[in-house]
Amino acid sequence: MRILFVSSEVASLVKTGGLADVSAALPAALRKLEMDVRILLPGYPQVMKLLKPLKPAADLRKILKAWPAAKLLAGTMQNGVPVYVLDCPEMYQRGGGLYADEHGQDWPDNPERFALLARVASLLCDGNSPLDWRPELIHCNDWQTGLTPAYLRKEGHQVPVVMTIHNLAYQGNFPKALVPALELSWDDFTLEGYEFYDQLSFLKAGLSFADQITTVSPTYAREIQTEAQGYGMQGLLAHRSSALSGILNGIDLEEWNPAADDNLAACYDDSDMSGKLENKRELQKRLGLHADDDIPLFGLVGRFAHQKGVDVVLDVAERLVNLPAQLVLMGTGDKALQNRALALAHQYPERIAAFVGFDESLSHLVEAGSDMFLMPSRFEPCGLNQMYSQRYGTPPIVHATGGLIDTVVDCNAATLADDSASGFVFYGLSPESLLQAATRAVELYADKAAWRKLQANCMAKDYSWLASAQSYLALYRKLVK
Ligand code: ADP
Repeated sequence: MRILFVSSEVASLVKTGGLADVSAALPAALRKLEMDVRILLPGYPQVMKLLKPLKPAADLRKILKAWPAAKLLAGTMQNGVPVYVLDCPEMYQRGGGLYADEHGQDWPDNPERFALLARVASLLCDGNSPLDWRPELIHCNDWQTGLTPAYLRKEGHQVPVVMTIHNLAYQGNFPKALVPALELSWDDFTLEGYEFYDQLSFLKAGLSFADQITTVSPTYAREIQTEAQGYGMQGLLAHRSSALSGILNGIDLEEWNPAADDNLAACYDDSDMSGKLENKRELQKRLGLHADDDIPLFGLVGRFAHQKGVDVVLDVAERLVNLPAQLVLMGTGDKALQNRALALAHQYPERIAAFVGFDESLSHLVEAGSDMFLMPSRFEPCGLNQMYSQRYGTPPIVHATGGLIDTVVDCNAATLADDSASGFVFYGLSPESLLQAATRAVELYADKAAWRKLQANCMAKDYSWLASAQSYLALYRKLVK
């Protein structure tokens, strides 16, 4: 089956979040299932620099006359997945971020930049396509690719489209005056099409016109049909619920493997956990915490954003470390949250450490060296860190939302007895509920045999991409006869 996988981010070339991880791992997993998957990605400076060699594949200037000069280049990811790079210097060759300039201001031409990506995806299904390779299905990801089925519809193509939502909070809503400029039709600027509160919505185009919609966990698939988490799209998503499903992300088992991880002070596995303590000691040493083998250590890694509930952890930090415990906070984002974390670390240097910055290697050490991992997200489409932490024998403490519900089984007498327990789940995000769950964890931690059992359950879980890829494949097979 020939599948075009369209995404605006692919790890390890360009990444702002989990979308990039999925866009790297899922096509590779699908290729292992014998699918001919190829990626279409904008030619950002990082992509042009890192993806070598890049060969000319097609000149689009004569075909897309109304758009800035663009070409398709062909390359191959390290994992063997072929990539078409949309090289349009006027749109993608610039400094700053993928979606915003260095001051955090969205690029004013974002609608044109990502309409072009979708337009080219649709062109590759066309009789006029400059490539010999013709996709039988297009897999779109997030708002940046949402217009693809709108263009296919306008051009009269029947190629099926799967649209995956990685985070519904980002929708790509723009002034309706852009409709003609982007070569879209007013006929579809309707409630059933891409009109959203009198704006042109890229994501809504995808949700309205895709043949199947997926999101990255079964629980989030249900949550986005409610007013609380639907960001205004809940009606449409409920209307399309028969075409909507949740497929849990996997994780990269080679990159995140405590038995062979260069970022660690010592490797370990379920049969010999002694290395885990070495990592705790290293983490305490590196971040200046008091050296103490026995004190429970809570770790947190993530974007410092409202979504992640970091504010609630900061609210309870003092009570948490008085359990007693130690706390490592690692992340970047909101300046006020960063400053609060740094101030707490300054006040309690032996018990609280704050690392403000992005450091892939240190994040592995935090996963390995912590005893428990905190992830009290307000909402979480899937979440990766709670899966990494389980693989590293670090039971997560999570708020009952989205993908966290689908990946963590609360520890109690029954789930510990049947070996399903894999962390601590609390309901209703508040300082009290978080502290209660943390207290439960600390109490169990004191029972070495029970804790060891919980760790073993965590480490035995299968988060490989294979299961997810098989679910996507089953979906594709429903659409491609
Ligand atoms: P989201 O995509 O909402 O940010 P996920 O949990 O799905 O959340 O994925 C976040 C990814 O980014 C994980 O791989 C996580 O380890 C990583 N990450 C987040 N913050 C940092 C940081 N400060 N340093 C290193 N890695 C980080």
